[in-house]
Amino acid sequence: MSKKDYYEILGVSKDASKDEIKKAFRGLARKYHPDVNKDPDAPEKFKEISKAYEVLSDPQKRAQYDQFGEEDPNQGFGGGGFGGQGFGGADFGFGDIFDQIFNGGGRRRDPNAPRQGADLQYEMTITFEEAAFGKTTEIRVPKEETCSTCHGTGAKPGTKPETCAHCHGTGQMNTEQDTPFGRIVNRRVCSYCHGTGKIVKNPCHTCNGKGKVKVNKKIEVKIPAGIDDGQQIRLSGHGESGANGGPSGDLYIVFNVKPHKIFQRDGDNVYLEVPLHFAQVALGDEIEVPTLYGNVRLRIPAGTQTGTKFRLKGKGIKNVRGYGQGDEHVTVKVVTPKHLTEEQKTIFRKLGGLQNESPNDEGNIFDKMKKKVFKAD
Ligand SMILES: [Zn+2]
Ligand SMILES: [Zn+2]
Repeated sequence: MSKKDYYEILGVSKDASKDEIKKAFRGLARKYHPDVNKDPDAPEKFKEISKAYEVLSDPQKRAQYDQFGEEDPNQGFGGGGFGGQGFGGADFGFGDIFDQIFNGGGRRRDPNAPRQGADLQYEMTITFEEAAFGKTTEIRVPKEETCSTCHGTGAKPGTKPETCAHCHGTGQMNTEQDTPFGRIVNRRVCSYCHGTGKIVKNPCHTCNGKGKVKVNKKIEVKIPAGIDDGQQIRLSGHGESGANGGPSGDLYIVFNVKPHKIFQRDGDNVYLEVPLHFAQVALGDEIEVPTLYGNVRLRIPAGTQTGTKFRLKGKGIKNVRGYGQGDEHVTVKVVTPKHLTEEQKTIFRKLGGLQNESPNDEGNIFDKMKKKVFKAD
């Protein structure tokens, strides 16, 4: 498939609403559906449109796509889809597809067909450093897994679930009603088998006939270096297990990054404020500045003003998508002493006097301003 941007494919903007995306997809799908469009390129085009819609219509997949593009650092994108069903097959009518997409499978399908398990979300709180450098860790995720005793059938080992005699295994009951307008058929979920199409006479003891057991699954998580607060990764196949042999859902891990005591972060850059003494900035100094990679020496030139920024190249955070490395920005903050001894006060008074006398000092800016004003008159 081509590497076109999904937003481009649907012809919508990056901040398009869910409705706009749906509308755009509907229009394009009607135009390119292989049942109506006989162009040889139509099936490929339709697939492309469907793929774009599949991703952009799902808030989680869309966020993932916006963040990482088609591939995320841990797993490939895709998988899942509409229960793994292909599009444009001869046995699919136009209406069926729309029903499936827009009504979430409104028409109940075969209860024995494989179904994908639900996606799970897990919030993980990590430290500033863990986000910056990445880490491999283990988490325990409560989820439902296929029962290993009965392999998901719900029946005691040695027995088999029987086809429900009430619905003949379809999972649904039709009730017919003659009305003045004709015969109306109502469909509802079979109340005997609850839509599964099967009756378990001898339930499995491990799962009590449910076919699934609750487990605290241990999962290894590779936190990618450079991940930021609110970003997420997807672990394909680590969601709830599917039904009837269907694939498992995915596990999304959303990161909360704890603030750092001294560093601030914006994207891949790290920010730090360094308090300095009057004398240090006036006379110049060489100081030790903390970075994520240990202390580094920084030369403060004489006459440095408060608010001056210094850049420590490459001392920021590694880009999560592998696009280089951020910097550390150090801002100087001159601290004015609050409590002075008599001796210090004397020194400062002296300093003040000197500054006023100095002939070419920038401190005389007030004098210069006065002169300008007079000239203008
Ligand atoms: Zn079981
Ligand atoms: Zn039934």
